[in-house]
Amino acid sequence: MHELVIVSGIIDALMNLSQRENRRIRSFTVSVGELASFDKNLIDSLIRELRKGTPIEDAEYRLVVEKAEVRCRTCSHTSGFNELIMPLKEDEREMIHFLPELVSSFAQCPGCGSRDLEIESGRGIKVVDIELE
Ligand SMILES: [Zn+2]
Repeated sequence: MHELVIVSGIIDALMNLSQRENRRIRSFTVSVGELASFDKNLIDSLIRELRKGTPIEDAEYRLVVEKAEVRCRTCSHTSGFNELIMPLKEDEREMIHFLPELVSSFAQCPGCGSRDLEIESGRGIKVVDIELE
């Protein structure tokens, strides 16, 4: 189960940080990209489960979804991924859903019409806004 490995890594990283800084973690936020192929509810319940009995058990915790954004390499215009693919045909959207990199094969920059697009955010999972005591 992929999610279990990811969440174990997150918990370990937080505990290492806490140990290294010799401070408790007051709060942390886990950010999951819109395009990340993780089950967000599973991630959430695994975090709640795996942190039991660890020093971060009582830390304030939030799970947020990071919006996917696409940047045009030609004019630097940034578009929301979902907004960009909305006008496309359903089968194109379906393909892009499984292979987000295909966005540049089907969509165009609304600013300049370029297809030189790159996905800037919304793909991974990371811990953000860590607050130490
Ligand atoms: Zn552009």
